[in-house]
Amino acid sequence: MTSEPRVIDCQEAARRLHELIDGELTPEVEGAVQRHLEDCAPCMAVYEFEEAFLRFVKLKAKGQTAPGDLKKRILGSLGLTSNSDNA
Ligand SMILES: [Zn+2]
Repeated sequence: MTSEPRVIDCQEAARRLHELIDGELTPEVEGAVQRHLEDCAPCMAVYEFEEAFLRFVKLKAKGQTAPGDLKKRILGSLGLTSNSDNA
């Protein structure tokens, strides 16, 4: 064990991305991942993609971004359509 600042590689950064996005990392690890992203364009690109994707999924889950038709289709695919015919 050392007290040096954590340095992580691309593999670890990739493993930590979802935890970073979900805010589940300790401040130390979060800082290490963010430093890596700032220095590593490919990992930053992956992070931005994952972050946008997860945000989209979460918003969609809340029904905030889906227009009526799309929302209906999503709910229909989940077997959750309401009984009302139309809006
Ligand atoms: Zn990297």
